[in-house]
Amino acid sequence: MVWFACAALVVLAGFFVLMPLFREPKNKLGTAFAAETELDRLLNRKAVVYANLKDLELEYKMGRLSDADFQQLGTGYKNEASAILYRIDQIRASEGRDKTSAKASASRKSRRTESGSGQGRDLSRCPSCGAEVIPGKKFCADCGHRF
Ligand SMILES: [Zn+2]
Repeated sequence: MVWFACAALVVLAGFFVLMPLFREPKNKLGTAFAAETELDRLLNRKAVVYANLKDLELEYKMGRLSDADFQQLGTGYKNEASAILYRIDQIRASEGRDKTSAKASASRKSRRTESGSGQGRDLSRCPSCGAEVIPGKKFCADCGHRF
């Protein structure tokens, strides 16, 4: 009976230890999906709104909707569609800006490192120990490195 209790405990403990492992990838996937882009969500929403608009026109043509309903619903969908399109444009514009600003900062950075390495080759500093060197001297006063 004791061994059974122990086995049950081990199984239980194993279960609780392993649970997060099974759960974690799902959560990661979920957050990745959520973070995947507002753009995807908007594009889906746009498709839905356009589908609704088509249905609306169909129903109107089939006489299931009054003029007033058709106008009201149609205007609602069109407003939503234009809001979605506007937001999509905003996101795409900001993404483009991010890319160009990232590129610009990258080139700024590389320019900075270029000038930095130029300073590294500065002959007023010993290439061996980095101590300041009096111009014209042939050996480093600190480490004796020959220039
Ligand atoms: Zn030196």
